[in-house]
Amino acid sequence: MEKNIVKCENLSFKYLSHENGEEYYALKGVDLEVKKGEFLVVLGHNGSGKSTIAKHINALLTPSDGTVYVNGLDTKDEQNIWDVRKTAGMVFQNPDNQMVATIVEEDVAFGPENLGVEPSEIRKRVDESLKKVGMYEYRRHAPHLLSGGQKQRIAIAGILAMQPECIILDEPTAMLDPSGRKEVIRTIKEINKNLGITIILITHYMDEAVEGDRVVVMEQGNIVLQGKPREVFSKVKEMKEIGLDVPQVTELAFELQKSGIEIGTEILNVDEMVNALCQLK
Ligand code: ADP
Ligand code: MG
Repeated sequence: MEKNIVKCENLSFKYLSHENGEEYYALKGVDLEVKKGEFLVVLGHNGSGKSTIAKHINALLTPSDGTVYVNGLDTKDEQNIWDVRKTAGMVFQNPDNQMVATIVEEDVAFGPENLGVEPSEIRKRVDESLKKVGMYEYRRHAPHLLSGGQKQRIAIAGILAMQPECIILDEPTAMLDPSGRKEVIRTIKEINKNLGITIILITHYMDEAVEGDRVVVMEQGNIVLQGKPREVFSKVKEMKEIGLDVPQVTELAFELQKSGIEIGTEILNVDEMVNALCQLK
């Protein structure tokens, strides 16, 4: 059995600019392995190549160079596309673009219907998936009347109903208010911990990134930093050079350290900061 659910080997993707007709690389030589059950976070500026990687993992794009394997299946092989899409589901930024039906449960049923799952099994999967994201009581509601966070949880239920091994979420909270963001992140964490589904979360929010098992930072089509959130964010100087933020408390620790206070910078939350301050002499 493959222990990697995703493996990108020397992945490059080039496109032709409409403006000047020249070729540009959106990705250049990316190597990335994602373990089964892992919660991976992808950070990086706009234009650094995050969505392009996501689309490769779902076989919406295929490499110009290199190879992407999803559960051992080469995404370039057309015979694999169906299995790849069934294995790795995608959730996008705008929940409104992902709703296809006028009733929540019909929306969630759409994916498994397309997979040709039989009706009684679909019924079961829809109910289970809605329960898993805490939206079962809304099953007969109209999706467009729900909050952004609820809509994204419905979108996640729709993917769960296809029983994927991996879910890629491309900035799923970018259009949500703080409470919607929290709901969605809590749901993602539960799916990962309780169901063992691999998560690849693309985000701009550092408080979300600290929830991952591992963070990779993209810059100009490649991975420039990676490690546990604690390791990556403690590199405050490097992160700032790339132009990315670190969590506020990590930055505070960094500033304290710069001003001569002997405090580590591997601090990710307020509790850890309080502990570190209490241990100062
Ligand atoms: P991110 O998701 O990190 O913001 P993307 O993966 O969407 O970045 O894009 C990476 C870069 O490649 C961007 O500069 C984007 O404009 C460019 N790009 C990717 N595909 C195309 C394409 N088909 N045509 C034009 N530009 C593209
Ligand atoms: Mg993007």
